[in-house]
This record gives sequence, structure tokens and C-alpha cells, in this order.
Amino acid sequence: MMESKKLKQFDISCPKCGIEKEISVPDSLFLQKKFGTVKIKVPQGAVCKDHNFIVFISTKGQVIGYDIIDASVSLDHKEEHPGDLIDLTLDELIDAFGFNCVAGFIHAKLFDYPSSIIRSEEFFLDIGQLNELFDDLIPPKYQTTKAIKDEEFDSYVFPNPNYYYSTIKKEHTDAFLINNRKLVIQVPWRVQIDFEKSILSKALGKKDKSEQLQCLAQYINQFISDVEFTQSLLENVRSISEKELIKKFKENLIVSTINKNRIISIKEFITRRISKEVGRKIKN
Ligand SMILES: [Zn+2]
Repeated sequence: MMESKKLKQFDISCPKCGIEKEISVPDSLFLQKKFGTVKIKVPQGAVCKDHNFIVFISTKGQVIGYDIIDASVSLDHKEEHPGDLIDLTLDELIDAFGFNCVAGFIHAKLFDYPSSIIRSEEFFLDIGQLNELFDDLIPPKYQTTKAIKDEEFDSYVFPNPNYYYSTIKKEHTDAFLINNRKLVIQVPWRVQIDFEKSILSKALGKKDKSEQLQCLAQYINQFISDVEFTQSLLENVRSISEKELIKKFKENLIVSTINKNRIISIKEFITRRISKEVGRKIKN
């Protein structure tokens, strides 16, 4: 018997820790099914060393979502609803939304981008509590008025979710969009969100789960004080190079871990949240 040995490549990211890798899937998996979704179990070690998970791929060959195996919290199943969202630990928040979506929400809240969760399925979600949870991570002065929104669409009208996604992308080009299957659908920023991903990983590393969110808030607070330090430096100069700025940080602040990426984030924050003119004073 001849079997198709052709493979298809997909960029997969672990919903639990965000590590990305290209994986190959036999083409034959998609030929067996004419329409719908192919569910692939990704074993531990295939994408990241610590987690196994499920990826959903449409028969058209698009990644449409993820699921975490053995997650205590899942938004897909109403009966497993997590109770009050506001009481979730960071671990549970990742189980519910996925690592990259949570990192994106932090970036959206901190840098003042609108964001939405797009879904066709019913799931338990108190959007007010979700907003409160993310807002609480950020010092009051910089809490944004742009709330995370819940967008439900009718899967009878749009049997192909990607069709709906492209419509909503066109309408909200400035928004961060995810679906209820832990998939990032649109990213409106051009920067890498390494800062958010790294503080998320560090906070998740805390053994005491009750301290994880608090730890995350502390990292954000540190970032804001770096922003304010930069702002005070910029008051007295016409411009400053990124290199000089790093030097100033090293001279003045012992605790802050400063590097080029951090400077880029600070510049982005000043430009978006404080003043474009002041942001322009940082030259590369
Ligand atoms: Zn992982």
C-alpha cells in the first residue's frame, strides 16, 4: 500500500509558555477529512520541552486554535467554568487564554490598544472582571480606557471563521484580536513584545501561585519607573541616543535591567502614552 509521505509545515506556539516552532504534519491527515477541523496532539518535546497540547488546524490548512491538555480552566466548556475570573491565578489565566494572548493583553493594556476576544461558541466570560484583572496590573495613572471587548459571531452565518476574522480585521486595524481558542488573530503593533513575554515567564516561575500576578504587577511597575526616569532625563535635553540612555540608566539605577529592547519599549510607551514629541527625542 502506498502512503502519502508529503508533509505540511505549520508555525506552532505552545499555548502554555509561548515557545514557537515549525512542525511538520503528514498531508494525509488533511486528505482523510473533507471539511472541519483536524485535531493534532503535540507531544512534550515537539515544540517546547515542558508541555503537551492540542492544535486545531482547519482542513484548509490554517491553525485555528489550541487547547491545553489537563487544563483546570477552559473557556470552551461551560460546565468547567472557572467561577470568578477575578480570582484566577496567572497560571489559570494562561490555561484559559493561552500564553501569547495573555502577553498581548498586557501589551494592549499598557500601550493603550483596543482589544477583542472573538468567538462563535458560548463560553463563560465576565468581560468586566477580565478587564479589572488586567487593569489592576498597571499603576492607576496609566490604566487605559480601552477595554477588552467580547465579540460574538454567528457560526451559521459564518461557517468559516476565517472569513469573519478578515471582516473584523478590516474594521479594527488598530486592535489586538484573539479567539476563544487561544489563537492570536491580529497584532496591531510592529514591535516585538519580548518584554511582556519575559515578565510573564518570570512571574509564572514563582512557586507560590498566589504571588504570580503580584509579581507581574511589580515588573510592570519597574518598567513605569524606568519610563519616568527617562522622561525626567528628556526634560533637559534636545535629544539622546539609545546608547547614551543605556549609560545613564547604568549610572543611576542599580536594580533596573536595561538593554536595547527595554529602551525600544520605553520609547514606544512615551510616544504612545505621554507625547510623540518627547518620544522623538530618543534617537537610535
Ligand atoms: Zn510550552
